[in-house]
Formats: sequence, structure tokens, C-alpha cells
Amino acid sequence: MLARDNFGKQCSFCGKFEQQVRCLLVGERGLICNECVQRFHQTLVAKPTAIRREET
Ligand SMILES: [Zn+2]
Repeated sequence: MLARDNFGKQCSFCGKFEQQVRCLLVGERGLICNECVQRFHQTLVAKPTAIRREET
């Protein structure tokens, strides 16, 4: 991880630090903040095929 300990944990997707968001979730590929979770959830609902293509 490139994040420095002094700044705490950092979202792997938008780059925001733990202090800048409501919460950070630990995932298999890194950390994700609540804002990105909401964004991805909306994208999943709107365009499920687009996400599936990225993961493949
Ligand atoms: Zn984020």
C-alpha cells in the first residue's frame, strides 16, 4: 500500500482518506469509501453490463 500511516486509510477508488468520508470498507482489492459504494451501487442498477465487462 502506498498510503502513509500518518494519513490513515485511503479509498482505493477515489483516493479520499478515512477522515474525509463517513466510513471506509475493506474489500478484497483494497479499501472503498461509502461514497464510492453508493456510486457503484447506482451504476450497477443503471448499467449492470458495463460493470460486468470491467471485471472480466
Ligand atoms: Zn471512495
